[in-house]
Amino acid sequence: MDSMKRPNPGLPRRSPLPILGRMQIKSAVFVTSARGLSDCPAWDRPEFAFIGRSNVGKSSMINLLSNKDALAKVSATPGKTRMLNFFLLNDLWCLVDLPGYGFAKTAKSEKFDFNELVGDYLEQRANLRRVFVLIDSRLTPQRIDVGFTAWLGGTGVPFSLVFTKADKQSAAKTRANIALFQESMSQPHTTVPDFLTCSAKTRAGRDEILRGIEASLKP
Ligand code: GDP
Repeated sequence: MDSMKRPNPGLPRRSPLPILGRMQIKSAVFVTSARGLSDCPAWDRPEFAFIGRSNVGKSSMINLLSNKDALAKVSATPGKTRMLNFFLLNDLWCLVDLPGYGFAKTAKSEKFDFNELVGDYLEQRANLRRVFVLIDSRLTPQRIDVGFTAWLGGTGVPFSLVFTKADKQSAAKTRANIALFQESMSQPHTTVPDFLTCSAKTRAGRDEILRGIEASLKP
């Protein structure tokens, strides 16, 4: 689909993640899978969406956040990988596992492959409070991630960049890749979003993400 070509409706809103107390996760349950906006839960729960390329560590991050080893497995079951998967945490807020994005190889060229439902959800869902875009911290900026975040910035939805698998290399290497990514995003009139590093192995970044979510829950 050509979501990347949609008109850019405005500048991204910057909303930094404040420091608050530590949120305890007491419950995490799968709610539903949606194949269209009309299938999304009809509720007023605030939603926090997670997205990234395949293998970026999204399932590991969702399991880490929820303290449940197999929560994200639900999203990987046949038929659900292209759907939006909703999980309710602490009976209070919703974690939405979004299908990833990538380049689909066509006969003649590469085509940006971006699930249309994801575009609709990100542009239209009133419950959506923040998107966490997962990026592999081991890699120099990938065109696909830079392209997606540029598009997302144009929607005006608050988002954070989460650099995953930080345990896999030195802190200096992670910092260098983050700096390169920020550089690749910084065009005139674009605000670079919040970013944090995480590791499903060391649990780094978990508290920071939960604090950000908690902050968004405050009236
Ligand atoms: P997904 O496709 O984005 O859901 O990625 P997964 O969570 O399934 O992770 C892909 C692979 O990377 C698996 O082998 C994970 O064990 C590994 N992985 C994910 N996160 C981390 C991390 O923070 N550190 C390390 N060392 N490995 C990770």
